[in-house]
Amino acid sequence: MPRKKQESVTSSMMGYEYSRSGNPTRNCLEKAVAALDGAKYCLAFASGLAATLNITHLLKAGDTIICMDDVYGGTNRYFRQVAMEMGLNIVFVDCTKKECLEAAITPKTKLVWIETPTNPTLKVIDIRACADVVHKHKGVLLVVDNTFMSAYFQRPLSLGADICMYSATKYMNGHSDVVMGLVSVNCDKLYERLKFLQNSLGAVPSPFDCYLCNRGLKTLPIRMKQHFHNALAVARFLESDPRVEKVIYPGLPSHPQYELVKQQCSGCPGMVTFYIKGRLEHAATFLKNLKVFALAESLGGYESLAEHPALMTHASVPAEDRAALGISDTLIRLSVGLEDEEDLLEDIDQALKAAFAGHKA
Ligand SMILES: *Cc1c(COP(=O)(O)O)cnc(C)c1O
Repeated sequence: MPRKKQESVTSSMMGYEYSRSGNPTRNCLEKAVAALDGAKYCLAFASGLAATLNITHLLKAGDTIICMDDVYGGTNRYFRQVAMEMGLNIVFVDCTKKECLEAAITPKTKLVWIETPTNPTLKVIDIRACADVVHKHKGVLLVVDNTFMSAYFQRPLSLGADICMYSATKYMNGHSDVVMGLVSVNCDKLYERLKFLQNSLGAVPSPFDCYLCNRGLKTLPIRMKQHFHNALAVARFLESDPRVEKVIYPGLPSHPQYELVKQQCSGCPGMVTFYIKGRLEHAATFLKNLKVFALAESLGGYESLAEHPALMTHASVPAEDRAALGISDTLIRLSVGLEDEEDLLEDIDQALKAAFAGHKA
């Protein structure tokens, strides 16, 4: 009996009394990510959406969130179908235009939520410009969903954002074997409140997943360089191919915001979007014939994936909204992985051949 008592005194003296509140493995990961983001603090959550939930709980009923009009589908669903039901106002705005963001801010605005680049059309938002607009208004926080770029290519806090969040399920862990969210901040008060929410809402990751994510982070620079290398090769190949209508890749000079990309990011991830010539049938046959690329919805892992947003990830977006966002039946999204460049290009070439052998353009 006395021995047991002594142990619990020792563990609470170390700051660990209950694993939801904190544990050595999670704290180790949180410290590593804070360092990567150049942040004072980081907090880990059970998923990217759990991170979003915790950030949203900084607000109260009646407050307004301004959200980029083109965000991750799950973020959109959570804001529209859960947060709004709970009494928050959510306004969707095209934050690529500074004046639209400026015009949307009211005294009720408490949070501005952006994601850059967007998915799947890879629009790039000027984080610094948004921060300047947002911080003209006292008490408004700028959140950047940095999932696509990872901490290796983009550091939103250094560009003026108040909160940097990730779905670590994607590039940060990078091995497609963990679902997790991460949130980095510099402000002491913001951290204290988020830490309170992390413990109070309880949407925390398991220590084992924290261990895996920490391990994944050790190869982040090597992985991101290889994603960039392969994606650029794929994007260039597609851009020079007559069977392709158009390629969107922020690392290509043809990207409309290439200059901004060069200022704000030190590289680009494996996400490449392109429009195949022809119709839905061409896109479907192309996808069916890929061998190295797997047909799947996730992204940011070591393995190359391809998907059809209109039929898969963005099927729940109403057809007219899809059209407005440029998500047509011929749009294909690739998450270029870490395989050999040659294997990837060969695979794309043979799948394009198959698409055009079966159907006339
Ligand atoms: C996947 C994703 C999320 C949601 O993260 P989960 O870990 O799946 O909950 C949020 N934002 C972006 C950009 C994503 O790709």
